[in-house]
Amino acid sequence: MATLAHVGRVAGTVDAVVVGAGHSGLAMSRALAAHGVEHVVLERGEIANAWRHERWDSLRLLTPNWQTRLPGYRYRGADPDGYMTAAEVVGFIDGYAKFVGAPVRTGTTVTKLRAEDGGYLVETDRGMWRCRAAVLANGAHGVPVVPDVAASLSPGTRTLRYSEYRNPSQLDAGRVLVVGSSSSGLQLADEIRRSGRPVTIAVGEHIRMPRLYRGRDIQWWLEVIGIHNERYNETDDIVRARRVPSPQLVGSPERRTLDLNALRAQGVDVVGRLVGSNDGRLQFSGSLANHCAMADLKLTRLLERIDRWVDEYRFGDLVARPERFAPTRVEATPRLSLDVKKESIATIVWATGLRPDYSWLQVPVFDNKGRLRHDGGVVEPGLYALGLNFMRRRKSSYMHGAEDDVRDLSEHLLQHLRAPKRAALATAVGI
Ligand SMILES: Cc1cc2nc3c(=O)[nH]c(=O)nc-3n(C[C@H](O)[C@H](O)[C@H](O)COP(=O)(O)OP(=O)(O)OC[C@H]3O[C@@H](n4cnc5c(N)ncnc54)[C@H](O)[C@@H]3O)c2cc1C
Repeated sequence: MATLAHVGRVAGTVDAVVVGAGHSGLAMSRALAAHGVEHVVLERGEIANAWRHERWDSLRLLTPNWQTRLPGYRYRGADPDGYMTAAEVVGFIDGYAKFVGAPVRTGTTVTKLRAEDGGYLVETDRGMWRCRAAVLANGAHGVPVVPDVAASLSPGTRTLRYSEYRNPSQLDAGRVLVVGSSSSGLQLADEIRRSGRPVTIAVGEHIRMPRLYRGRDIQWWLEVIGIHNERYNETDDIVRARRVPSPQLVGSPERRTLDLNALRAQGVDVVGRLVGSNDGRLQFSGSLANHCAMADLKLTRLLERIDRWVDEYRFGDLVARPERFAPTRVEATPRLSLDVKKESIATIVWATGLRPDYSWLQVPVFDNKGRLRHDGGVVEPGLYALGLNFMRRRKSSYMHGAEDDVRDLSEHLLQHLRAPKRAALATAVGI
């Protein structure tokens, strides 16, 4: 077993270490402080680092300002129906860090976390911490997910992960293929097309939503009818539910709807999922029509559920009348392949998702696919995750999801810290 002398300078011993000072880590810090848990928040960069350095320039939240809230703290500006820019999100999270007074150590990268002596040893590039509990609040979006097909592209094809994308000026002249049809894929296709470049988007499974329905923001409906609060342990197939891409939404001052029909109207070419590349030809799946039909069907089901709620709660005279949206337009015979040279495809942008980076976590808590095993964020007693997709509730990955998740998990953490004392006391008094 490694001793402290082997692993470096001891920076401190605390009850709990929180890894990451994004909104999740700060919210957990507030809960721990409220219970007198001695802790430290270790952050490799600055507070709100991901929003400072890992988002494209024009990104705005797709959740409205009134919904942008953290435990004890909420947006109080003059535009509750607007959507924050990334810089405004940084300001919001910075304000929260001050409000919380979190003990954040910036510029401190966690390089290893492992179990020792019934607690954890957390190694960083600035010394080592010992703790009895640890919270992984290092974000759900650490590493871009790039499909296997990337390996078979012709050498010299320029590709860009969407975490590297900042604005269209980075792109060479010529057609851009955006791979992925979640909110990010659609937003990038939209922005790049508006910059005057021809764009093709490769579309797989996706979630279509209007920005407004019956005069209200769709996020308002998702909140009031209870969808955001759906629990991970009440869902038929949580593994699948956690893989569902983010809804096709954009936060824009004009509150516009961004879907495949809107992209087509701008001249974006829509093809199926990118499935292969051979001899300079890209191949696309024939499943485009099915994916679009499925997304249209799920949209209709969502709108019907909202309408039923309106009827049940006699809300009809407070909102606009129901409406239905045109089905997604798909050509009778969508293109199944593209010649990279002939079509002058200059860049492929991977908008195929991001996953958490736990490369430094040396505790055997991964499944056979390398995914973190956890039960609603409880990895094991004493080790907790935050901010993951549909972690405890459907809203877990949104800012406003932190409140309930942090409350639940901090309670679990407290029980864990108290347990050995209780056990010792029980032994002492003979029960
Ligand atoms: C493109 C995009 C759009 C989004 N839009 C919305 C939206 O509209 N509304 C909404 O509510 N949510 C949105 N989210 C989701 C969510 O708010 C963010 O993902 C949020 O950043 C997650 O918060 P977090 O605190 O869990 O993690 P992060 O904000 O990612 O914070 C994790 C922190 O951990 C630090 N860190 C990582 N590894 C280490 C390490 N080894 N050692 C020390 N520190 C480390 C990072 O530097 C970072 O500061 C969006 C996310 C993305 C990617």
